[in-house]
Amino acid sequence: MSQSAIARWDVIIIGAGAAGLMCAAQAGYRGRRVLVLDNAKKPGRKILISGGGRCNFTNLQAGPHAYLCQNPHFTKSALARYTQRDFIDLVERHGVEYEERAHGQLFCTESAKEIVRVLLTECDWAGVTLQMQTELLTVSRDEAGFSLTTSRGALACESLVIATGGLSLPKLGATPLGYRVAEQFGLPVVPTHAGLVPFTLHSAEKEALADLSGISLPVTLTAASGQAFTEALLFTHRGLSGPAVLQISSYWTPGEAIAINLLPGRDVCAWLTQAQRENGAQELKTLLARELPRRLVDKLLELDLLRSKPLRQYTPRELGEVATRLTQWTLKPNGTEGYRTAEVTLGGVDTDALLSKTMAARDVPGLYFIGEVVDVTGWLGGFNFQWCWSSGWVAGQFV
Ligand SMILES: Cc1cc2nc3c(=O)[nH]c(=O)nc-3n(C[C@H](O)[C@H](O)[C@H](O)COP(=O)(O)OP(=O)(O)OC[C@H]3O[C@@H](n4cnc5c(N)ncnc54)[C@H](O)[C@@H]3O)c2cc1C
Repeated sequence: MSQSAIARWDVIIIGAGAAGLMCAAQAGYRGRRVLVLDNAKKPGRKILISGGGRCNFTNLQAGPHAYLCQNPHFTKSALARYTQRDFIDLVERHGVEYEERAHGQLFCTESAKEIVRVLLTECDWAGVTLQMQTELLTVSRDEAGFSLTTSRGALACESLVIATGGLSLPKLGATPLGYRVAEQFGLPVVPTHAGLVPFTLHSAEKEALADLSGISLPVTLTAASGQAFTEALLFTHRGLSGPAVLQISSYWTPGEAIAINLLPGRDVCAWLTQAQRENGAQELKTLLARELPRRLVDKLLELDLLRSKPLRQYTPRELGEVATRLTQWTLKPNGTEGYRTAEVTLGGVDTDALLSKTMAARDVPGLYFIGEVVDVTGWLGGFNFQWCWSSGWVAGQFV
């Protein structure tokens, strides 16, 4: 192809997801000529399926504490410069109705489509060009910037932004391209694995717990690192799921056990002792079934984790042991369901190679990484989108 046939842009963004679209609009408003490329048919596909179709688009408590990253300080700058309040203002300006749920999570009242509409409207107002169903084939760099070959021809740009997301949900078009580009330009990539993902169990435990499938209850789960979450645990026919499990999965390393507190937020030993005093004839299982699903209590007895007898027959030491069993039930997951069902990818482009203020590669002028492709992973609850908005916004001020 001749030099003149190459379409030149100020900024090319690979990935029309949450981070890419936010960055594109910001750069466009600064007068930059912006092209967004994506291999999928439609932009923002993960946004559309997020939050059960209602997109948990941010969290009122968003802050660096809610992110996993090898450098715990890295997220501070972007999160402070484009906050959850900024994104809430944006959706309010576009008339999106939303509701607050537990733990400060904000969801669209109607549909996640509203968030995609906001982003595409902003891109439209900012003069951004979107080109879908386009594969990036090769990238190279010289003094003038970047040269790209794509399934739809050659392109060139001054600034190249990689916003290709993580590896979760491969059926939605997730690819490792972003990591490959990072490696090509000498940026290290922190090994990736599935996060916010259900656990599978070893076959003996899976079989033993199979008839609990469908039971959900509030618990505190604690990982070996000491990180704990109090939310719902759901027994499934494959293993363990629910918000508490998804959260702790991001802190779990294969081979480790997790501790389950089935009666969080109370002094269980004191509670049992008081119950013994008040009604010594009552059987332990009757007392527990007032607080826990009956099927679960029966299962704990069947597994010999507990023995039931009238409360008066327990010595104080035995009551202490019962309390420990109920608050520190340990299970060793076999693994996770992997990228097939994971909400996010842990690891990614090493933040040591990026400038936290701009998201630019330290040693490659004009190259930027934003969103989930970076080694920044949020808790469940809208934190991952907030990272996309914040990192996309800051990069948009500099590209
Ligand atoms: C089922 C599910 C529910 C979720 N719910 C929530 C939620 O409610 N709240 C929350 O905060 N987070 C949620 N998440 C996480 C959130 O969706 C992601 O963290 C977020 O979408 C990441 O945005 P991104 O822009 O970095 O990447 P993505 O949104 O994944 O966008 C990347 C884009 O790059 C494109 N792309 C990839 N490879 C290539 C390539 N080789 N060439 C061209 N284009 C490419 C993709 O097609 C895609 O459009 C959920 C995730 C899942 C899977």
